[in-house]
Amino acid sequence: MGKALIIGAGGVASVAAHKCCQNSDVFSEICIASRTKLKCDALKKELDGGKTKVETAEVDANNTEMLVSLIKRVKPDVVLNLALPYQDLTIMDACLETRTNYVDTANYEPEDTAKFEYKWQWAYREKFKKAGITALLGSGFDPGVTGVFSAYAQKHYFDEIETIDIVDANAGDHGYPFATNFNPEINIREVSANGSYFENGKFIETPPMAIKKVYDLPQIGPKDIYLLHHEEMESLALNIKGIKRIRFFMTFSQNYLNHLKVLENVGMTSIEPIMYEGREIIPLQFLAAVLPDPSSLGPRTKGKTNIGCIFTGKKDGQEKRYYVYNVCDHEECYKEVGSQAISYTTGVPAMIGAAMVMTGKWNKPGVHNIEEFDPDPFMEELTKFGLPWIEDFSPTLVD
Ligand code: NDP
Repeated sequence: MGKALIIGAGGVASVAAHKCCQNSDVFSEICIASRTKLKCDALKKELDGGKTKVETAEVDANNTEMLVSLIKRVKPDVVLNLALPYQDLTIMDACLETRTNYVDTANYEPEDTAKFEYKWQWAYREKFKKAGITALLGSGFDPGVTGVFSAYAQKHYFDEIETIDIVDANAGDHGYPFATNFNPEINIREVSANGSYFENGKFIETPPMAIKKVYDLPQIGPKDIYLLHHEEMESLALNIKGIKRIRFFMTFSQNYLNHLKVLENVGMTSIEPIMYEGREIIPLQFLAAVLPDPSSLGPRTKGKTNIGCIFTGKKDGQEKRYYVYNVCDHEECYKEVGSQAISYTTGVPAMIGAAMVMTGKWNKPGVHNIEEFDPDPFMEELTKFGLPWIEDFSPTLVD
């Protein structure tokens, strides 16, 4: 039916590419383009032989001109950005110039400031609208499926949602003393930042990891969960009418937190450049280079993830609560596509988001967050492509 250009060839891109090939009715062709072409070629080798035609290319996604000439040559229906958040704007610029639809999984972050906000990408709204192309922002799991879950709860179960608690739990064990499940640099920037939550119309900041709760997660058991700032809260606060409070919690083991504290204390998580043997380096980038590559965790990781949203609100004047979540097994994911569950739970919705835009099921020129679209076709595809969801109409609340 159509063609997608995937930018990036890391953990998430690998799953998304596998899933595009499983959905060859929609993705008759894909091109995987990244900084290191060898990785794209290795991925192509795994994918060749199916119905989807796979090609590869080398691109520096920081360079808009290079991206424009690649898009002009490949002529995709959609660009699926699975590189790093630093490249969001250059890729959006290239999509504008070539009038190509755009999908990503993480909001823009300037490389020299650990601050992720939608304002930079929302500034493209009018330009995308005028060009008649759609930008779908945040089509991973969180952000991504959490926004789809919110739109689904709003559409089917509530007159008014009052609170949303997003709980992201990873009970996987990779056997390393310390490793991150996705890009280490992005992951450590996220967890070492101040926490925040939305309440009564404004965001309230907290010191990093200052709020800890314990929640008993289905199929995983009781876990320590910590309040973090997370990007989907910013768009959900605007798009879920009447919302009073949104919080985001993630599990961390004491071991992970101890390692992180030591690394912070010795300055290894800093993004301030330092001089080392005559050249400038950024300590966090150096740390990322010595940590295990997240894509190497697949064969070693055992256990499950559970990510979902707990809603409270009103329906027909009655108090109502609703919990919808997905449980994913690291070993099952590895058996299917050669990746652990964190890449899997992001790569599957990335493929589905691209498919929604390519098939025209989601066609709204402009720049939109995922909860602004009809959730029903996306929810159907989640089950079909490996992320079935479970509903609970009387969940325990986080507090
Ligand atoms: P990886 O580090 O495994 O992969 C990133 C890929 O991008 C690599 O192939 C890398 O190339 C490539 N890349 C980096 N810079 C450039 C550049 N300038 N030009 C071209 N290619 C480049 O990351 P992940 O796969 O773990 O994560 C991918 C994205 O998914 C990130 O933005 C992350 O924030 C997001 N994510 C979203 C989640 C969600 O639920 N919404 C959850 C997890 C991740 P090279 O191989 O040369 O390094």
